[in-house]
Amino acid sequence: MKIAFIGLGNMGGGMAANLVKAGHHVRAFDLSEDALARAKEAGCETFSNIRDAVRDVEAVVTMLPNGAIVKSVYTDDVIGHTPHAATLIDCSTIDVATAREVADAAHAEGYKMVDAPVSGGIAAANAGTLTFMVGGEIHAFEAAEPILQAMGKAVIHAGGIGNGQAAKICNNMLLAIHMIGTCEAFQMAQKLGLDPQTFYDISSVSSGQNWSMTSYCPVAGVGPTTPADNGYQGGFATALMLKDLKLAMEAAQASGASTPLGRHAEELYDAFAKENGELDFSAIIKTL
Ligand code: NAD
Repeated sequence: MKIAFIGLGNMGGGMAANLVKAGHHVRAFDLSEDALARAKEAGCETFSNIRDAVRDVEAVVTMLPNGAIVKSVYTDDVIGHTPHAATLIDCSTIDVATAREVADAAHAEGYKMVDAPVSGGIAAANAGTLTFMVGGEIHAFEAAEPILQAMGKAVIHAGGIGNGQAAKICNNMLLAIHMIGTCEAFQMAQKLGLDPQTFYDISSVSSGQNWSMTSYCPVAGVGPTTPADNGYQGGFATALMLKDLKLAMEAAQASGASTPLGRHAEELYDAFAKENGELDFSAIIKTL
């Protein structure tokens, strides 16, 4: 299949390479020359502008930093310049309202479009083991699914357009909350004289068990190997967690949802990110 891929950064670079490995012809564009050079090495055909990249393709995949960029890329250079039978797939994490607005513009021109944000970081993007949460009409989902399968381990239909983004920010708000809760519990356990490994052995098989504890433990030397064992380098950057929490709080306000713990998590990550945006988000344990 001929697929245009726009946004070949930390995530998009590996995703585009996996489409090539799956036998697709990938027409790549990024503003960064370095990203384009890496895409060429991975077997993509590279272009110096979006309109040339999307000409004659059957699908467009975007993996871009934010909603404003996604909107300008689609409205300026994708919609109306891509064949109308093509499937448009935005994998970026952006706000629900912009995802729906861009899809409305695409639908008005007869395109199929889905929002398909991902769970899993750079390692999963490279390994082709991302989880995609997909919003869009069923015929658009069915057209996007085989393309997404080539880049991930799970592709889940979340409902109508924008619901992929809704699932992503609700999931990451919950992740931030249980990470902070897990950090608090380990810190208090230690202050009360409990060895962290002993607390882990008890809580990981008791009702406090959760993913932040047993799959992503914020304490070095406890549980599986995690960014905590590597000085909180790598993993999921605090700045990206904060981005997702801000999107979640915008969505909470717009929808009238009550999210007091989500709001508090956003405040804590906002303060922590000022000096530590590059560190893995589990490093917030250092502030407690
Ligand atoms: P990144 O900054 O590494 O990559 C973004 C790429 O987009 C860059 O190469 C940049 O040059 C390019 N770009 C920016 N404006 C452009 C334009 N107008 N036209 C073409 N290219 C343009 O970011 P990333 O880490 O790859 O993240 C991409 C998206 O994935 C974000 O929405 C992020 O929230 C989401 N995400 C990231 C992670 C992660 O762990 N990095 C995990 C899940 C989701």
